[in-house]
Amino acid sequence: MLNEAIQILKTYYGYNSFRKGQEEIITSVSSKKPTLAIMPTGGGKSVCYQVPGMMFDGVTLVISPLISLMKDQVDALSEMGISATYINSSIPVSEIANRLNDAVEGKYKFIYVAPERLEVEVFRRALQSLTISQIAVDEAHCISQWGHDFRPSYRNIKSMIDSLKDKPTIVALTATATKEVIRDICKMLQIDDDQVFITGFTRENLTFSVIKGENKRDYLKSYIQKNTNQAGIIYAATRKEVDQLHHYLSQLGYTVGKYHAGMSEDERNKAQELFLFDEITIMVATNAFGMGIDKSNVRYVIHHNLPRNIEAYYQEAGRAGRDGEPGECIVLYGPQDIQLQKFLIEQSSLNDNMKLFEYKKLQQMVDYCHTQKCLQQYILEYFGDSGILNPCGKCLNCTDDRDSVDITTEAMMIFSCIKRMNERFGKTLVAQVLKGSKNNRILQFKFEKLSTYGLMKHLTEKELVNIIDFLAAEGFIALTSGQYPVLTLESKAYSVLKGDLKVSRKSKVKAKEIIEDNQLFEELRLLRKKISETEKIPPYIVFSDQTLREISHVCPTNKQEMLEIKGIAEMKYERYGSQFLEVVQTYRAVKS
Ligand code: ADP
Ligand code: ZN
Repeated sequence: MLNEAIQILKTYYGYNSFRKGQEEIITSVSSKKPTLAIMPTGGGKSVCYQVPGMMFDGVTLVISPLISLMKDQVDALSEMGISATYINSSIPVSEIANRLNDAVEGKYKFIYVAPERLEVEVFRRALQSLTISQIAVDEAHCISQWGHDFRPSYRNIKSMIDSLKDKPTIVALTATATKEVIRDICKMLQIDDDQVFITGFTRENLTFSVIKGENKRDYLKSYIQKNTNQAGIIYAATRKEVDQLHHYLSQLGYTVGKYHAGMSEDERNKAQELFLFDEITIMVATNAFGMGIDKSNVRYVIHHNLPRNIEAYYQEAGRAGRDGEPGECIVLYGPQDIQLQKFLIEQSSLNDNMKLFEYKKLQQMVDYCHTQKCLQQYILEYFGDSGILNPCGKCLNCTDDRDSVDITTEAMMIFSCIKRMNERFGKTLVAQVLKGSKNNRILQFKFEKLSTYGLMKHLTEKELVNIIDFLAAEGFIALTSGQYPVLTLESKAYSVLKGDLKVSRKSKVKAKEIIEDNQLFEELRLLRKKISETEKIPPYIVFSDQTLREISHVCPTNKQEMLEIKGIAEMKYERYGSQFLEVVQTYRAVKS
């Protein structure tokens, strides 16, 4: 069974071996057990249902939440010589009928559909006349309301499956799943615990950083200056902020696209298209952008504002480096962003219990921004992945050689102030007392009489809040959940007060170049762009950055050597191989 799977991987994808996890998942799926695959973005989920789909008779139905993603997936499969199609609201009714007819005739191995389609009676009836061997539920966390993208129509999947005469094999796939989400997926799709495969969330090619206490625009400017030719996404929290950033970067002379829900559908599609085709390299967007983006050569993802939780963050950041080449994920942290996220939680239609849950997750995101331990490890621990116990050695916290400043005295002042306020108030009031503010609440509680009142008046209230956040992230201070978290002291804080423990903190960061491109790579990239224009498919579907980079290092001279490059299989070689070989030859001739 596995031999057949590897043969398919080689022949169609041009890869020699399965990645971590893929093998077990494919073994489970191809023995027809309902399976849940949890893999990071870029981990290679598609292969986990596409390879078994090729092994099964009949068709695989892929349920996927976003329309743009379907076209991409279908294009990529077609490029490899695998027949596939998609059915969603962007297709005229008559064309849908054609595609369904073709499907009945067994023309396709894969059909991609949006979950909403399952509510359409005609479609459900048509399914009865197909031989469906497998159902792949992509972005399976959408099933659960504990997930960050709950989609009510995902709830129809179960009844659709039950309505089929012959039971297909079920495989659910997602990049982000907490315990609650996993439980929901398994329950609905009747997946056994033994068939849940968590391959680990590590994305070894990604580098994480949090930039704090710096001017965000200055940082962006210097970052883009260093990485002008690379594709990147900059996420901002609101439409207004997207517009302003877009204006700012355009004025600096960069070709920048933008994307948010306030733009017309046409404008959004256009912007997305330009980005996919490498016409513009920088995309400024709200989180409305990207779920349907499979662009594999995104080199950096910068969050201009605090994401709402670690799951959402890891998924968005994970859009960098899907091709396995280096990718950078940066959060520009400003404490005021927390207020916006809290506001959004308050405004949401969630019940009180769920709101509390969201507040807790937001706090963990804030903690991420303040922790000084390995950022990769922090994220992995959040997902309960103890797979890597060692620090990544690459993130900003791991590579940080900035000087440490001793802040033990400041920390002691803050702790004793919290204590004197009986551990009953939030960070704003604590900061105000230390600052020596004279507002009503302070007078009401007679805090101006405390010995810590005005003790740190040389700092701004914001700086004080920053230090408190830092101390919370480091586990000296605990915060109760809710909209107004109260500060309490942890045992570590008492050790500091007793003089048994010191507290230190670091300062300032410089923008770096993500990757250095060589000249041959640039020429290969130009050829890829030309092909993408004639074929009307995005450049990364022609070949990934990783494939081009390997060509530029290996300099293959013939077909055999080309086929040994990752990502080049027979079909792709036949289509484009000789053109790329020619570029390599010309380059070598000029060089020698
Ligand atoms: P996901 O859906 O998990 O985000 P994809 O399925 O898009 O990830 O895969 C990410 C990239 O990794 C794609 O370019 C894919 O072709 C590549 N890939 C998948 N499996 C392998 C493998 N076994 N060897 C090398 N590359 C792989
Ligand atoms: Zn690290």
